[in-house]
Amino acid sequence: MAINIEKYQSLLTELKGIATLVAVSKTKPIEDIQALYDLGQRDFGENYVQELVDKQTVLPKDIRWHFIGHLQSNKVKFIAPFVYLIHGVDSFNLLKEINKEAAKNNRVIDCLLQIHIATEETKFGLDGTELVAVIKDAADFKNVRIVGLMGMASFSDDLKLVRNEFNMLRSLYNEHPKFSILSMGMSGDYQIALEEGSNMIRIGSLLFGERNYQKQ
Ligand SMILES: *Cc1c(COP(=O)(O)O)cnc(C)c1O
Repeated sequence: MAINIEKYQSLLTELKGIATLVAVSKTKPIEDIQALYDLGQRDFGENYVQELVDKQTVLPKDIRWHFIGHLQSNKVKFIAPFVYLIHGVDSFNLLKEINKEAAKNNRVIDCLLQIHIATEETKFGLDGTELVAVIKDAADFKNVRIVGLMGMASFSDDLKLVRNEFNMLRSLYNEHPKFSILSMGMSGDYQIALEEGSNMIRIGSLLFGERNYQKQ
């Protein structure tokens, strides 16, 4: 499946100055990523550690790799040498492991805490109280920087519900003046996310076409 160049260019125009576009390339071949790279795209998002490592090895070194999936602590070491931003940090223990592996690599790794905003049971993430606790407990970590929040809205046709969920995340984000990144919005809901204050959207299928399979 080829990339949608027209959609890419119209998205860039739509986003100019408002939000960063992370092109979500999970399950998509190297050639598609290279094609988008050749158009100037540098931020790419992946969900699976092995797939990310395989792609990072062969693709240009100035790509900013975003890890947007559910990250297991025992796999942090594989991406710590190069990952640009980890979006889905949903526990203190995971943050602690990232801090440890970042130190081994002499790096400071930027992280977003994932907040559970959807009404669905299946989505990962912290609530507002846990968020405060994690920030407090991580205060002396030298090799991670919590730079903002990430969230996924319910997969629903109820646009009011989706808007409310994004709005909740925005409110939490606003409580922390040091945060600079609010990662919310995917192919199906990015316009609502932007209206609710997102400054980083994660777009897969609009750019690369539908995925054949979707692992969790
Ligand atoms: C797959 C994925 C996306 C992109 O989804 P699309 O609907 O294809 O745009 C964004 N964020 C996360 C966390 C994902 O897992």
